[in-house]
Amino acid sequence: MLNLVLFGPPGAGKGTQSEKLIEKYQLVHISTGDLFRAHIKNQTPLGEQVSQLIAEGNLVPDSITIAMLEEEINKNPGAKGFIFDGFPRTVAQAEALDNFLATRGEQINTVLALDVSEEELTKRIAKRAEISGRADDAADKLKKRIEEYFSKTIHVLPYYEKSGKLHKVNGIGAIDTIFTELSSIVDGVVA
Ligand code: AMP
Repeated sequence: MLNLVLFGPPGAGKGTQSEKLIEKYQLVHISTGDLFRAHIKNQTPLGEQVSQLIAEGNLVPDSITIAMLEEEINKNPGAKGFIFDGFPRTVAQAEALDNFLATRGEQINTVLALDVSEEELTKRIAKRAEISGRADDAADKLKKRIEEYFSKTIHVLPYYEKSGKLHKVNGIGAIDTIFTELSSIVDGVVA
């Protein structure tokens, strides 16, 4: 199995690059943000539980997020591998993912971290807000999301650095150039 984590702050291009990686490597995409938005749209009990937190740009508690993620992995028994997009966002989530994969004899093979400056992120999401219809793309909510990233999520990087799995990639530039770089890292892992 090939299990990748695509890591980066809001607006780093995780969604765009995920789509291309999934196609090339035939992986199952698990975006916790997309899963939460589907729950909210379908007005499930989980959706109701998390909608306010997400609308405000706060992280959803680890216990809820981890349970949802494990359920999603279990739904795909025949997968060749997974790409985790927007997960893990805390060290507790990273540990939970490692433990869960280990129970299945699997592991994270590589972590691709898209590096984009805060100034560029703000610019990109202001543009996305015009078309995404996401309440949490509004300027004040985005500020909170970027704060959550730099206070909680950034600590996931040293966690993966310690295990030698972290690859930082410049997330500013042409989509295809960034994709080529990501692919060459993945190809190095697969080879
Ligand atoms: P995203 O689409 O990845 O930017 O996620 C949108 C929102 O969903 C985030 O701002 C959080 O409120 C919530 N969310 C998504 N993934 C996670 C996660 N791994 N841990 C906690 N909250 C999350």
